[in-house]
Amino acid sequence: MTPRFLGSEIYRRSSYGAWHPLRIPRVSTVMDLARAMGWFGAGQFVPSPRAKAAALTAWHTADYVAAVEAAEAAGEVSEAMRVRHGLGTVSNPVFPEMFRRPATSVGASILAGELLRDGGVVHSPAGGTHHAFPDRAGGFCYFNDPVFAVLSLRANGVRRVAYVDIDAHHPDGVEHAFAGDTDVLMLSVHEERRWPFTGALEERGAGEVWNLPVPRGFNDSEMRAALEGLILPRLAAFRTEAVVLQCGADAVEEDPLSRLSLSNNAHWEVVAAVKAAAPRLLVLGGGGYNPWTVGRLWAGNWAVLNGHDIPERLPAEAEAVLRALVWTGARAGKAPPEHWMTTLRDAPREGEVREEVRGRIRALAERARVWA
Ligand SMILES: [Zn+2]
Repeated sequence: MTPRFLGSEIYRRSSYGAWHPLRIPRVSTVMDLARAMGWFGAGQFVPSPRAKAAALTAWHTADYVAAVEAAEAAGEVSEAMRVRHGLGTVSNPVFPEMFRRPATSVGASILAGELLRDGGVVHSPAGGTHHAFPDRAGGFCYFNDPVFAVLSLRANGVRRVAYVDIDAHHPDGVEHAFAGDTDVLMLSVHEERRWPFTGALEERGAGEVWNLPVPRGFNDSEMRAALEGLILPRLAAFRTEAVVLQCGADAVEEDPLSRLSLSNNAHWEVVAAVKAAAPRLLVLGGGGYNPWTVGRLWAGNWAVLNGHDIPERLPAEAEAVLRALVWTGARAGKAPPEHWMTTLRDAPREGEVREEVRGRIRALAERARVWA
């Protein structure tokens, strides 16, 4: 079945504000690159619907959904709302599309569950907002679209869903939703000792929670060790019917918010391998705060999902998309390296698989063996 891409123009226009890490364009860059490359075949681009407030209350509280809607309408929040729902904070500011924008990424995740009913592949780079809680915004996330993706797959008859998250941050909101549910496999690879400080190796939930915290400098070889020693064996043992893959772009070397050292080759390798491991795949976005690395990585995800070759040097129209990006307030934005403009693929960042990484993968494999 032909992969579908769920996108919207709302992401081009909206910004979290002049000083927020999400002041940068991301989804619109991916859409522009895919168009420039001729990577949208007939019918592949599907505009995201926007989830209605009533649909959002399938997981979020009615009070919270109403508060986000009211904050968008008023352009401000009261002190009480800030304290109660985490709205109007430095990380989750009030901005003009603060309800419509996240409601659109939830709409995409709900639609993805329908499109994947009989199998296939969907990419929704606006999705992956894994830190939102039922009653509370957090970590730049307002509504938790990955949770809605899992719920929608389930509503469409898919029972065993794996949620795999390779963002630099642990998906605390998604784990909150499904840690107690043995029909959802929860698997996360994330930087240790980083916000939100959840996702310990020892956490098990009801038995299908697998967390691999990794040290600074985590490289492509180490991600391959995690893929082969943890992700693929768990997906196989779980008899996975669908995978929701949160493919945050903040674990790459050039991201300003975390200290991991992957190249985008590592993400593409995970995407290709996970696609082969289950009959249904939804690839979401997530974190990612360098406009060039995010756009290049997620455009490459779309190429991998379609089996397109990624050329060594981009054609002029695609290069123009990357040359038009600006990254204000960031040192690297002043003199971005030339290969951020002319390529999608990073130089690989292979390295030693350190014993602390190896040992943790071993510990999880041992836990799986004992329980089998
Ligand atoms: Zn992140």
